[in-house]
Amino acid sequence: MSKVELRANRSSKEWSDESRALYNRILFDGACLDSDPDLFFPETDGKKLPKETIRLATDICDTCSVKAECREWAIENEDHGIWGGLTATERTKIRKERHDTSN
Ligand code: SF4
Repeated sequence: MSKVELRANRSSKEWSDESRALYNRILFDGACLDSDPDLFFPETDGKKLPKETIRLATDICDTCSVKAECREWAIENEDHGIWGGLTATERTKIRKERHDTSN
């Protein structure tokens, strides 16, 4: 299964047209398009992600033309995997910080 197929399977949520368009752009313009899905969605069995896995994925993100859009999209929409150079844990932290500062 390619990364596109993997991510397409995750795209069944109800999103606005704007979110859907941005998601599709990230999906097909992303530098990770042909990368191994396991790099971005590693199986961890509940353990912390290995630093080397994170580094390999985020090195690809650092070359990506849609990194900023991907990061913002994932902070808003995605609870799993590495997106926009951030792990799920990092995105959760940012979400919480944004929520705390808006209240
Ligand atoms: S920023 Fe990373 S996860 Fe997002 S599309 Fe680019 S390479 Fe893929």
